[in-house]
Amino acid sequence: MEKRCRVVVKVGTHVLSEQNRLSKSRMLNLVEFLASLMDRYEVILVSSAAVAAGYPMLKLDKNRLHNRQAIAAIGQPQLIATYNRKLEKYGKVAAQLLLTADDFDSRKRSYHAKCTIETLLKHGILPIINENDATATEELVFGDNDQLSARVAHYFDAQLLILLSDIDGYYDKDPNKNSDAVMKKIVHKIDPEDLEVADEVSFVFATGGIVTKLKAADFLLKRKRDMFIASGFDLSDIKSYMFDGVHKGGTLFTTEHS
Ligand code: ADP
Repeated sequence: MEKRCRVVVKVGTHVLSEQNRLSKSRMLNLVEFLASLMDRYEVILVSSAAVAAGYPMLKLDKNRLHNRQAIAAIGQPQLIATYNRKLEKYGKVAAQLLLTADDFDSRKRSYHAKCTIETLLKHGILPIINENDATATEELVFGDNDQLSARVAHYFDAQLLILLSDIDGYYDKDPNKNSDAVMKKIVHKIDPEDLEVADEVSFVFATGGIVTKLKAADFLLKRKRDMFIASGFDLSDIKSYMFDGVHKGGTLFTTEHS
């Protein structure tokens, strides 16, 4: 990939948290990766985990949506402060943007957000985007920021969305339930059936799961943008893809045929 390409990195709660709090070691690894990535690309981060960051300070029952919203309100500034403390070591600074999917429906609002992003990137700042949890509940109800990050990638003009997940790629079936599941390395098109069947599953269990990721991929493929799913626990696959141009593990969704 060319230098100064724009990429969006999305990291999920499972990757950033451990036993109901932020995982320091994983955040350190992530920030080290982001700092190197920023030296070669324009980088926008979409980060979940505000609830994990706030929970140690107010241990309310997380089964209730309003409690999760309140915990997220406590955790969001903590999360950004943690990122900034770790980025400081690399001489980098983060900024916070709280957006909702609706902001992308309004041309005026998305235009202003894009101008903010452009200015931040021009000055080498890392914009960190999260859903505005007090007014929007998609992330808190459906589990993650996969949809938001796909919109961020498209409307803020990134060529690639990287999803750092608790799973290291997209398999032909759920690898946590099937030991013979095989990872797909490159995917050019999402079968609408996969979205429908999987949709029901994700609705019943009310988690992000693979469906929201496939929906994100579908959205981007239709707009000629790429997406890559890689492990957020072990960053070696994504590092090798982004820094050495070698696709060892992880799944690339792209319309381009090599
Ligand atoms: P994250 O929190 O990292 O964003 P999720 O836990 O919401 O990710 O979704 C990933 C999970 O989706 C995996 O751990 C896996 O159990 C499940 N899954 C279901 N089907 C598949 C599949 N075909 N390929 C990969 N993962 C799948």
